Amino acid sequence: MFKKILVANRGEIALRIQRACRELGIKAVMVYSEADKEAKYVKLAEEAVCIGPAASSLSYLNMPAIISAAEVTDAEAIHPGYGFLSENADFAERVEKSGFQFIGPTPESIRIMGDKVSAKQAMIRAGVPCVPGSEGELPDDPVQIRRIAKSVGYPVIIKAAGGGGGRGMRVVHTEAALVNAVQMTKAEAGAAFGNPAVYMEKFLQNPRHIEIQILADKFKNAVYLGERDCSMQRRHQKVIEEAPAPGIPRKLIEKIGERCVAACKKIGYRGAGTFEFLFENGEFYFIEMNTRVQVEHPVTEWVTGVDIVKTQIMVAAGERLPFTQRQIQIRGHAIECRINAEDPFKFTPSPGRVTSWHMPGGPGVRVDSHVYNNYFVPPNYDSMIGKLIVHGDTREQALARMQTALNETVIEGINTNVPLHRELMVDAKFMQGGTNIHYLEHWLSQHKR
Ligand code: ADP
Repeated sequence: MFKKILVANRGEIALRIQRACRELGIKAVMVYSEADKEAKYVKLAEEAVCIGPAASSLSYLNMPAIISAAEVTDAEAIHPGYGFLSENADFAERVEKSGFQFIGPTPESIRIMGDKVSAKQAMIRAGVPCVPGSEGELPDDPVQIRRIAKSVGYPVIIKAAGGGGGRGMRVVHTEAALVNAVQMTKAEAGAAFGNPAVYMEKFLQNPRHIEIQILADKFKNAVYLGERDCSMQRRHQKVIEEAPAPGIPRKLIEKIGERCVAACKKIGYRGAGTFEFLFENGEFYFIEMNTRVQVEHPVTEWVTGVDIVKTQIMVAAGERLPFTQRQIQIRGHAIECRINAEDPFKFTPSPGRVTSWHMPGGPGVRVDSHVYNNYFVPPNYDSMIGKLIVHGDTREQALARMQTALNETVIEGINTNVPLHRELMVDAKFMQGGTNIHYLEHWLSQHKR
């Protein structure tokens, strides 16, 4: 096992990884930007290294600074968390070339999955069902583009091969709007992701977002840890996640889970990963794979009892998966609310000083956050400042616990989306379960304030 790991991230996930290291008896070296000097996990760290100024491009995305920090502290491995460099194949390669273990899949797996066109092609070869669409990257010729759209059938969605975080997508309803939409998405993708390639998919009208968590070791053992329902989204970004997905027969989950496991074995995948699907009329359609730990991993941890972050570290150190598929049982129901520093209904970011921070507790309540009383939320990063997760024997009990937990939560000094979560947790349709990916946007557009 490693003696020392460098955590190349910030915020709640940096704290989460630090906690996993502590439990495993591993020293965690934390890195931080000048804006994160006061972060809890930095104060709690045995060792912490400043890697640059507030701007991510100069700190959390600064590969030489991160690798030098690992060198000077004698770390053996680097955990990239999520976001930042976690899905950057060049970074993973540089980490390994510098003699450190990258806690994640091989650079090659990251590269294939990081390009959504090559990821889809790999999945088709591995027998995983995909959303119907263009066979690969869209050509430049307008005539051919129109022909492809006609065979896919309107509405279609144009997506950037290098896209992520809900960006680089455009829905097209008519042939008249098609070519222009493709050109605009290409231009945006080139500017935002450094890759202008786009592809086309059928735009599914009422799907749910269902994803399968997998874990694999270097010996081609792989298991799936059930599913998560992440359909509650705003601007293609997840707001609430839960496990298991309400109302989907276990048989269907098992079938798709087994396909994911087979695909992992086929591509020699190692570490944690998520296969994301849209689910409509009883069918799963692959959209992309995330080759890292995800924000919403705690709901899976709670219903399976598996510590995903610890297992990531163990398999990176060359250990075998400590469980088999048969040992994975789903118990009860877990829900996660992402807590963002933003106006709850207008969504304008709200960084600044937290003058009061009281988090809920009691049976079945987990809070993953690096924030504390008097903490200053820097304006430089993502607005998510923590996650509130609950577990219950049933979905009803989990909902009741989340309602109570949200009512106990007090955050002052900045705006947060806690009031939005409070309303959603008593919304009749959400309480019923099984809302689709458009539900929250629709709800927000009808919302009276
Ligand atoms: P990202 O990498 O930016 O998260 P994804 O491909 O995972 O992009 O898609 C994010 C979200 O966009 C999905 O959860 C879904 O809400 C929506 N979406 C993507 N593809 C389609 C599609 N073919 N039809 C309908 N909605 C889609």
